[in-house]
Amino acid sequence: MFSSHAGFRYRTLAAMRSCQQGTPMNYRGRFAPSPTGDLHFGSLVTATASYLDARANNGQWLLRIEDVDKTRTVPGAADQILHTLEAFGFAWDGPVWMQSQRDAAYLAALEQLAARGLLYPCQCSRSQIAAAAVHSLTDGSLLYPGTCRPVKGSMHVLTEFAPSAAWRLRVDDQRVICFDDLLQGTFCEQLGLEVGDFVLRRADGLFAYQLAVVVDDAEQGVNAVVRGADLLGSTARQMYLQQCLGYPQPVYAHLPLATDAYGKKWSKKRLAPALQPAEAGLLLWHALRFLGQPVPDELAGAAPGELWNWALQHWALAQVPHCITLRTPAALI
Ligand SMILES: [Zn+2]
Repeated sequence: MFSSHAGFRYRTLAAMRSCQQGTPMNYRGRFAPSPTGDLHFGSLVTATASYLDARANNGQWLLRIEDVDKTRTVPGAADQILHTLEAFGFAWDGPVWMQSQRDAAYLAALEQLAARGLLYPCQCSRSQIAAAAVHSLTDGSLLYPGTCRPVKGSMHVLTEFAPSAAWRLRVDDQRVICFDDLLQGTFCEQLGLEVGDFVLRRADGLFAYQLAVVVDDAEQGVNAVVRGADLLGSTARQMYLQQCLGYPQPVYAHLPLATDAYGKKWSKKRLAPALQPAEAGLLLWHALRFLGQPVPDELAGAAPGELWNWALQHWALAQVPHCITLRTPAALI
């Protein structure tokens, strides 16, 4: 009697685990580059993994240009990105989404949060926040000290919006947000100690990246996010926003970040080399190897179509190295 009960419990837990960690039904993934310059090897790694994971799961792969920060957009970069992706043989589903055209949707989400008393205006300068000298427990970065946080329950409507104020989201100080990343394992973060109330609309009137990503993923029905490990630290904030807005939560897989020859993140001074369509076959081969896929030596430099044929038959997300950073292959630097 006892053993059958224990067996039932085991099966139930196993089923819950596979449900949490497995890939979703009706898979919808996406690739979401920022048009701040040319695509580089790191972008190719992310595009390749998100594309193959979607296609291997009979899913859709959407393309979104993340140009919500209009001050960083480089003219012509979005078109260049689309041309490069086409030259490498990527094929996306549906129209390309542009964040710069989505202000109404982001404003509607802010209004929903404001109506729940979760938003408040903040006019603190960077130096005022620095003077408070409160640091994040995780990386030592500045934590917003809550200077402008109103008493709980007070409401601010967006018509009160002052041109020079940022709007911050009140985080739940006690809540610990955990998620099982398909590659990096379990991550937990207590936003109150590690981030503080974060900005959703900046003082210059632009919507924050965290808000745009969450609203777009929900409206596009994205249920699987495969992206670079540089965004691992944003995931808890995005999940908190999903919870506040009543959105479903995608599964996440954070890929190793391609670093320079010294094992460091590519810097603004020393940019990763731009992808050259003439070298598509060789670059794709290196991207597959970087992602732990045992693509044969003889396919190095083959036509992109041949590489995609091999990759679609052999893709295994579990073979991607479970690490945060990985050096860009020496041949490409
Ligand atoms: Zn403030």
